Amino acid sequence: YDLVGLDNLVANTAYLRAQQVDYDELRKRRVSLTLPKPKNSSGLLLDRKYESVCEQQPIGRKLFQEFLLASNPQYVAAAEFPEELSHWRFAEDEAREKAKRSILAKFCQPESKSFLSYLTGEAAEICKNLSNKNFDEEALEQIKEATRDFLRGKPFLEFMKSPFFYRFLQWKEYEKQKITNKYFYEFRTLGKGGFGEVCAVQVKYTGQMYACKKLDKSRLKKKGGERFALLEKQILEKVNSLFIVNLAYSYNDKTHLCLVMDLMNGGDLKFHIYELGERGIRMERLIYYTAQITTGILHLHSMDVVYRDMKPENVLLDAKGQCRLSDLGLAVELPKGRTICQKKKKGFAGTTGYMAPEILKQENYRISVDWWALGCSIYEMVAARLPFKDFREKVHNEEVTRRTLEDECKFEHKNFDDPTKDLISRFLRKKQLHRLGSRGEDPRSHRFFQSINFHRLEAGLVEPPWVPKSNVVYARNTDEFRDNSEVENIKFDAKDEKFFNEFSTGAVSVRWQKEMIDSGVFDELNDPKLNGHGCESVWT
Ligand code: ADP
Ligand code: MG
Ligand code: MG
Repeated sequence: YDLVGLDNLVANTAYLRAQQVDYDELRKRRVSLTLPKPKNSSGLLLDRKYESVCEQQPIGRKLFQEFLLASNPQYVAAAEFPEELSHWRFAEDEAREKAKRSILAKFCQPESKSFLSYLTGEAAEICKNLSNKNFDEEALEQIKEATRDFLRGKPFLEFMKSPFFYRFLQWKEYEKQKITNKYFYEFRTLGKGGFGEVCAVQVKYTGQMYACKKLDKSRLKKKGGERFALLEKQILEKVNSLFIVNLAYSYNDKTHLCLVMDLMNGGDLKFHIYELGERGIRMERLIYYTAQITTGILHLHSMDVVYRDMKPENVLLDAKGQCRLSDLGLAVELPKGRTICQKKKKGFAGTTGYMAPEILKQENYRISVDWWALGCSIYEMVAARLPFKDFREKVHNEEVTRRTLEDECKFEHKNFDDPTKDLISRFLRKKQLHRLGSRGEDPRSHRFFQSINFHRLEAGLVEPPWVPKSNVVYARNTDEFRDNSEVENIKFDAKDEKFFNEFSTGAVSVRWQKEMIDSGVFDELNDPKLNGHGCESVWT
């Protein structure tokens, strides 16, 4: 028997089986869970802004909705209007007409019980006069804004004195629990990085699967990687995009710092270009991925973050076939209007074959290095080679640098069509200022993206052109990740411990709350019949 193959098979089976959640089993595991009492201090330290509590945090949002729906008809209407509005926005054809008629009948007729009676001034006029003819985005946005203004006033104040808000504080207390290895089951290794491996994990009480990127503390210290590890974590927890991996938890054990992220079980794009049948990715998929990648990059740039590691290997697919950028280990935040200044050799970042001319010439650079690398990546998805480096070509870095600086990009592969060639050429302009995207123009208006409806794409509503099979593991065999390198025993001092603590902040609010809701834990614990203390107590 091939023992290595057997090991791999066992690891794959356990990993695939874990993804088939057994809800009855899970419910049994958590009958004893109860929500803690909020400590006095936690309520005071809490961020009490309306946007944070009632809009950004999923549990706060849900409890605020419940509060509104349990109040008077006016509050009920204010809760329902934004929901129906967003339903209309994303609906198509017949469904859209229906949504429109419903909004007009429910919210705009003074005799309806859901009439938006709280509106005043201009918004009230617009609402009353809304009809089939003037039903447009702008008018509705104005009513929506006026609704928000209303909600953040009296309703929000009342909410904060209600049992619903006490519940919210209980959840916030629960959210602060200390996270350790015991919180998860661990499955097979999915990939390997510079400071350790990435494996699949599952939260015991919710069944939620994640990927855990483990950074070896000794190796980090030896190579001075601490600063970038912390930066990676801080940027990951700040981003909020469908096209960038989300961070759910960060914690540490004796030997590793751990980043727990969305599990992307469809494999990375490099794997898809080179390891699955015919090389390259067909045009329909490639356009879809490029649209998502571009939106992800624009999101980073809007936060003044330069990604610096754009390449197919760092773009991962999820179970549905949508992709996200991962590996923000080289990302940096730019102070407004500044460039990244390259002191000799330092600040030199990226991967051979994807680095822009300005990086290679050690000039100052900005966000446009990401557009260059995207140009190289699109080229690679079509041709299964890089513009200045052939697949598996043994070539010195100096020669790749020379070609990048001097040669024109050639399009010899049969799959290049006109729009694709044009887009790549614009991303591969050697001068930063001539490059598409470098002066804040939006690359998504290029005709290459003609078939993509970006509104729907950003709402996650465009069907992926290809869906990973649920019984296939899109990763190399486990034995290919075995680690033979010795890590010597490195001692940690007080400064190291301080850094480990700064890194280990536990659950990330938005992602954790979403997990509680998706897994049903929120509904189970929120039901007053199921857990001893109901909603009677009022927070003082
Ligand atoms: P490094 O910064 O050391 O390159 P990465 O973050 O790129 O580490 O992770 C290494 C590899 O682990 C990736 O190439 C990928 O194959 C796998 N991997 C990383 N993140 C995930 C994830 N969220 N889901 C699934 N696999 C992942
Ligand atoms: Mg990587
Ligand atoms: Mg990295």
